Amino acid sequence: MRQPSIVWFRDDLRLADNPALRAAIDRGEPVIGLYVLDEQSDGIRPLGGAAKWWLDGSLRSLSARLTERGSTLVLRRGRAASVVEEVVKDAGADAVFWSRRYGGAEREVDAALKSALRGSGVTVASFGASLLFEPWTVQTGAGTPYSVFTPFWRACQSMPAPRAPLPEPREIPGPQSEPTSDDLDDWALLPTDPDWAGGLRETWEPGEPAARARLREFLAEDLAEYDRSRDEPSAGATSGLSPRLRWGELSPHTVWHETIESGHPAGRFLSELGWREFASHVLYHHPDLATKNLRPEFDAFPWPRLRPAQLRAWQQGRTGVPLVDAGMRELWRTGVMHNRIRMVTASFLVKNLLIDWRRGEEWFWDTLVDADGASNPFNWQWVAGSGADAAPYFRVFNPELQAKKFDPHSEYIRQWAPEYGPDAADLAPPPIVDLAQSRKDALAAYERMRRTS
Ligand code: FAD
Repeated sequence: MRQPSIVWFRDDLRLADNPALRAAIDRGEPVIGLYVLDEQSDGIRPLGGAAKWWLDGSLRSLSARLTERGSTLVLRRGRAASVVEEVVKDAGADAVFWSRRYGGAEREVDAALKSALRGSGVTVASFGASLLFEPWTVQTGAGTPYSVFTPFWRACQSMPAPRAPLPEPREIPGPQSEPTSDDLDDWALLPTDPDWAGGLRETWEPGEPAARARLREFLAEDLAEYDRSRDEPSAGATSGLSPRLRWGELSPHTVWHETIESGHPAGRFLSELGWREFASHVLYHHPDLATKNLRPEFDAFPWPRLRPAQLRAWQQGRTGVPLVDAGMRELWRTGVMHNRIRMVTASFLVKNLLIDWRRGEEWFWDTLVDADGASNPFNWQWVAGSGADAAPYFRVFNPELQAKKFDPHSEYIRQWAPEYGPDAADLAPPPIVDLAQSRKDALAAYERMRRTS
């Protein structure tokens, strides 16, 4: 009997440029795709609500595409280590392939499973597919990881160029009999009571074909303007590719090579991919990134007692600060927020409201469709001043000045928070904090921390 190979899909929900899938096909045996919803393994962070919504759509798309080409996607729920072994047994498989993950808990799960499977004679191979540069390959002259972005990115660029993307397979041989699969509906990834995902449905179509279409459109229509307009939230000039990269509907290799081939000057855009790499490398070296200050002196930061009403006002976009409220509502409605506004809203929470960055990180984790185990905590720590190559603490974003500079005609504010428009000024609520006074309080708290640490 022919023994199938299993491709365990995780953060690489695509057929094109998927080295694990390619390796399975090249063995010449039937191929079974597998996705495991793991909410039980130690340390694996359960997905947030918006991420679950995305996952549902992306799995439906992947499953249909595998079936079209002759193969199948098996869905199972539970502790990954035991589930994968079970599926290997059920399918009579003798090989398992996957793309690497870089979080601490994920690496532990994968390493243990790899040795257990190999111990029972199963071929296992893992591939670099989610990053352009593997974290252990980029080091300073002293053999340590980089902690500052600019030299990190310079070092990456002096390495051999990222490999060319692999073509999408046309046919994928399927097994004669399929192991049983869960029904995706039973996973209940979509919100029902209440169904808050209307804005997500209007904004996004998860899945590899839509991801590729957006990449093509961005390169043809927006990249040329990227340098000039990327900081203006109403310009729509950025790629919108973050959830595609987060879920691996596109590989960074594909984005990298197609960007260069587009012929537009692209240094700035590619360096944003560099920040994505940097965040993952930092996570690889600091698995506690989401919970622990990278700069330990911040452990002594005198956070005042949490005022839940203030946290709620921020979450709901009811702070009375127009740019902050616009951003938080864009996030709730669409599952993303423009990068500059992410910085402004994060700075407002951490500095003007003096709320621990971890509370903000958790909210973003729950509401972003691109919620990423590396980029999210990395950027929160960057804003809070406790992170790698972070913004200096005294850099408190002033939401009013930021609005003047980056949303001079209030287009973005009017789109998401119309009560602040010129015709509706009477309806606008007053700010929940005084920006100038709260800035002073934040700097004083920082000074107290410096004296105690
Ligand atoms: P583009 O400007 O088109 O950039 C291209 C790609 O580069 C992005 O798709 C993304 O993959 C990557 N990128 C750009 N900026 C960054 C950055 N600062 N850090 C890491 N990667 C970057 N990005 C996430 O993907 N997931 C997150 O959970 C996330 N959380 C964030 C939290 C805060 C507080 C802040 C300030 C930023 C966060 N970012 C996160 C980074 C950034 O805001 C988004 O990647 C970007 O807004 C996505 O829009 P885009 O795809 O149009 O970006």
